[in-house]
Amino acid sequence: MFYLKEQKNIIDTFFPDAGEYDTLLEALGAFFEKEILPGAKRIDQEEIFPRQNLQRLAEKGFMAIPFPKTLGGLGLPLPVFIAALEMLARACANTALQADIQNMVCEGIRLFGDDRQRNEYLIANSLVEGKKLAAFALTEPCCGSDAKSIQTRAVLSSDRYILNGNKTLITNPGEADLVLVFARTDKGISAFIVPKETPGFEITGVIPKLGFKGNKLSAIRLRDCAVPERNLLGEEGKGLEYAKQMLNAGRLSIAAIALGIARAAYEKALAYSKKRKAFGESISNFQMIQEKLANMITRMNAARLLVYHAANLREKGEDIASEVSQAKLFASEAALKVCDDAIQIHGGYGYTDAFDVHRHWRDARMLTIVEGTSDILRLLISHLELKSH
Ligand SMILES: Cc1cc2nc3c(=O)[nH]c(=O)nc-3n(C[C@H](O)[C@H](O)[C@H](O)COP(=O)(O)OP(=O)(O)OC[C@H]3O[C@@H](n4cnc5c(N)ncnc54)[C@H](O)[C@@H]3O)c2cc1C
Repeated sequence: MFYLKEQKNIIDTFFPDAGEYDTLLEALGAFFEKEILPGAKRIDQEEIFPRQNLQRLAEKGFMAIPFPKTLGGLGLPLPVFIAALEMLARACANTALQADIQNMVCEGIRLFGDDRQRNEYLIANSLVEGKKLAAFALTEPCCGSDAKSIQTRAVLSSDRYILNGNKTLITNPGEADLVLVFARTDKGISAFIVPKETPGFEITGVIPKLGFKGNKLSAIRLRDCAVPERNLLGEEGKGLEYAKQMLNAGRLSIAAIALGIARAAYEKALAYSKKRKAFGESISNFQMIQEKLANMITRMNAARLLVYHAANLREKGEDIASEVSQAKLFASEAALKVCDDAIQIHGGYGYTDAFDVHRHWRDARMLTIVEGTSDILRLLISHLELKSH
C-alpha cells in the first residue's frame, strides 16, 4: 500500500477516530501510485511543468485538504495534508513542490488578508482548490537569507502602489496566475498580491538548475508595476513578519517533501540491493550495504516523527517556529543522505539515467537551501533556545 504503515501509525496516534482520514489517505496514495508516479521520470527528464497533475489534484481536492470549509477547503487536520504531501512527493516531487508554494501563499492570504481578498483569491479564484496557481517572490539578487535587506520598492501613488525592482530564484512565477511579491515601502517590507498580467510585471528568463526540473526557476523584473492599493496584504510594513509565518507552513511542506523523496530513493535502493549480485551473492547480504539500509530507514522514521509532530502542534494553534525549523533541518539533511546512500548502493548505475535514482538526490539537494538554509535554521533554532531558557 502506498500509504505507509509508518504514516498510518502516527495519524492514528494523533486522532483516536482516524478511520476517515486513513480511508482518504489510502485512496490518495493509490491515486498517486497509479496516476502520478508513472510520469515522474519523464517530467524530470523532459523538464515538463506538471500542470496536468496539478489539475487532477485540484479535482481530487488535494490542495484544499487543510483549509477551512468557509474558504473552499476540506477542513481536515494539517497532519493529514502532510501525510498526503509526503506520498505525493514520493510519487512526483516536481508536482509536490508547487503544492508547497500554493499552500504557503494560501496560508498567507488566509492569515493576513481581509475578507475581500480571502473571498476573491482563495475562493473565487480557486487558489485553495488549486485551480489557479500562485508563486512567492521574496528573494532578490542581493539577498536571500538576509530578506530584511531586499531592495524592491513600492510607492503609493493615488490608489496604486508602484513597484520597482528585481526578484530572482523564484519558483514558477511564469506558470502561476498570481505572485505574492515582497517590496519595501516607507513603513518597511510589505506584501502585495500581483496578478501576473499586471503591466510592468515581467518574467526575464528561466534559470537552469540541478534538480526539480519540472519546476521553472525564474527572475522577475518589476518596472513601474502598478498594483491596486487593495492588493496590499494585511498592513504596510508587516511583510517580513507575514513571510516568517508563511515560511513556517512552507518549511513543514518542504520537510514532508523531503520524506517522500527519501522514501522513493530508499525503495529503489532496497529493491536493487536484493537483485544485484556481486562476489556470487546478493549485495544485500553484505553488512556494509545492510548498515546503509538500516541508517536510511532510521533517519527517515526519525525525521517523520519530527515532521508530523510539528504539524500536529501547528494544528493545535501552537507557535512552532522552532519545531518546524528542526523538522525541516533534520528531514532535508536526512533526505540528502538517504538519496546519496541510494546512489552508492546502485554503484555505477546509480550515476546513470537508467535507474533514475540520481533524480531524487538532485531534488533533495535543493531542500537544504530553500525556505531557510540549514545554516539559517540552525541559527534560528539556537536563537529561540537561548531566548527561552
Ligand atoms: C530551486 C530554488 C527555488 C527557489 N524558490 C524560491 C521562491 O519560490 N521564492 C523565493 O522567494 N525564493 C526562492 N528561492 C531562493 C531561496 O530561498 C534562497 O536561495 C535561499 O533563501 C538562500 O538565499 P541565497 O541564495 O541568497 O543565499 P545567501 O543568503 O547569500 O547565503 C549563501 C550561503 O551563506 C550562508 N549564510 C547566509 N547568512 C548566514 C549567516 N548569518 N550565518 C551563517 N551562514 C549564513 C547560507 O546558509 C548559504 O550557505 C529558491 C531557490 C532555489 C535554489
